[in-house]
Amino acid sequence: MVEGKILKVSGPLVVAEGMRNANMFDVVRVGEKNLIGEIIVMRGDRASIQVYEETAGIGRGDRVVSTGAPLSVELGPGLLTNIYDGIQRPLEAMREKFGANLKRGIDEPALDREKKWHFVPALKFGDTVSAGDIYGTVQENDVILHKIMVPPNVKGSIVELREGDFRVTDRIGKIKYPDGSIEEITLMQKWPVRVARPYREKLPPVDPMVTGQRVIDALFPIAKGGTACVPGPFGSGKTVVQHQLAKWSDVDLVVYIGCGERGNEMTDVLREFPELTDPKSGKSLMQRTVLIANTSDMPVAAREASVYTGITIAEYFRDMGYSVAVIADSTSRWAEALREMSGRLEEMPGEEGYPAYLTSRLAQFYERAGKVVCLGSDGREGALSAIGAVSPQGGDISEPVTQATLRIVKVFWGLDASLAYRRHFPAINWLNSYSLYRDRLAGWFSEHVAKEWMDYTARCLKVLQAEADLQEIVKLVGMDALSAEDRLSLDVAQSIREDFLQQNAFVDIDCYTPLEKQCGMLDLIFFYEERAKDAIAAGADIEDIYSLPVRERMGRAKSAPNDTYRKEFDAIKADIRDQLEQLKRAAQKD
Ligand code: ADP
Repeated sequence: MVEGKILKVSGPLVVAEGMRNANMFDVVRVGEKNLIGEIIVMRGDRASIQVYEETAGIGRGDRVVSTGAPLSVELGPGLLTNIYDGIQRPLEAMREKFGANLKRGIDEPALDREKKWHFVPALKFGDTVSAGDIYGTVQENDVILHKIMVPPNVKGSIVELREGDFRVTDRIGKIKYPDGSIEEITLMQKWPVRVARPYREKLPPVDPMVTGQRVIDALFPIAKGGTACVPGPFGSGKTVVQHQLAKWSDVDLVVYIGCGERGNEMTDVLREFPELTDPKSGKSLMQRTVLIANTSDMPVAAREASVYTGITIAEYFRDMGYSVAVIADSTSRWAEALREMSGRLEEMPGEEGYPAYLTSRLAQFYERAGKVVCLGSDGREGALSAIGAVSPQGGDISEPVTQATLRIVKVFWGLDASLAYRRHFPAINWLNSYSLYRDRLAGWFSEHVAKEWMDYTARCLKVLQAEADLQEIVKLVGMDALSAEDRLSLDVAQSIREDFLQQNAFVDIDCYTPLEKQCGMLDLIFFYEERAKDAIAAGADIEDIYSLPVRERMGRAKSAPNDTYRKEFDAIKADIRDQLEQLKRAAQKD
């Protein structure tokens, strides 16, 4: 055990001497109160320690004791529905035990030590196992089957494995290692948060994480195992987007990391998430959610820990063969914490005071996303998709955190304050957003949705881009200068924006759209465009086309129920055909 003495305290940073034999990233206990910290720099016998609790009252000469172990999380049944702080202390359990005003230096195990779980073995005496094999399962709740896995680096044969009701630390069986030694198996394992959990092989992301949000699925899709960034100026709908993703994405689990948004925003999430219902199971969304929340009484340094804690828990579920989404809100606050700590460490500042390693830290986080073949002999696949919200000051995305993130992630959903102001929701700006997965996902969409999908969605992007250019011209020379074709193009763009992209998260029928229906909606719009072009070519007046009654009916297409929309869409198409045919014939007569 390494014990040193404090030399200086500067906010969440404590420098201690006499620490020569301690290791980088060891967890240490600081002062009489046993505050929890982590060594982030070692120089000679001096350790710089990032303390995850308020350091008031700690001073020079106080002792610092290294635990000799890196910051680790407990992994096992009981993770779900929990709300943890950045160093995986269970907030509810602590509140029950110690009251609302949390004392410092509290040790409360992350997984409930008393609760019993029913374990059903999948293996038997004599079976040989290695990393990632599944000992058996615990039905953690109505929704999630928790697979108890052989930890990475373990190999041996089963000497004992029992069905029964166990606490997480109880012995469920025994394993014999190749050297003959025997160890107990429990439902729980530990893992150091800064180390990515191993997998057998990374796979290319080729299937989409379907969100039911039309602007995302159709224009800027994210792959399962992909990375995305969503910058959100205040009021632009960042919270709603995150809720929609958590609720509707076709993933098995969600890990939500609230890395220190301004106090009240975080409590919003804490309050709202447990109230959300999982549309698939009809149960509370929390049954398949783990929330990591930095409470306002924790210093900014804890934000860093929370990011690693969250992604490690997500990896653990990925390893079971699940598809997991991590939503980190907001990575800007994490970056600010890095900046503050870097300043206190008197490191050479980079752009806007952020440390030079900002990009590599962010990259380390997003690199832990991916679709993988898990460890274990059954060859199961898991996916971890990472979505980071950033909060650029004043919505200026040229600032360093957004820019660094954009160099790493493959999808950018640029929320736009001016769209939100015009009540165009989700306020994802179609002109500056992008997805680098579009091409890779093309095969999946063609096979599973429709072969027209890629054409239609590419066409949307093109029409919207053309609209922006045409609007410039209109500004200069007025609408009358445009040809009828160009005016039709503007009309189609408007239809794409209003009839397709705008999606109300608070309307039952509209908040989630299956891919087939999305494709059907686009089909309507482009069917209309083709017929209208035809009519124009025959001499029809664009003003008459604008005022066709079917345009209004197209606007209501999104409210057609998800199970019976086809009939309605066919009827709309028949209307489009008839009404434009009439115009065409009238034009030809003149
Ligand atoms: P932020 O978190 O960026 O400050 P919110 O997510 O709270 O913003 O959104 C602000 C408001 O915008 C919401 O209260 C809601 O009225 C509206 N809004 C945002 N997204 C949608 C949406 N998809 N559908 C309908 N309204 C939305």
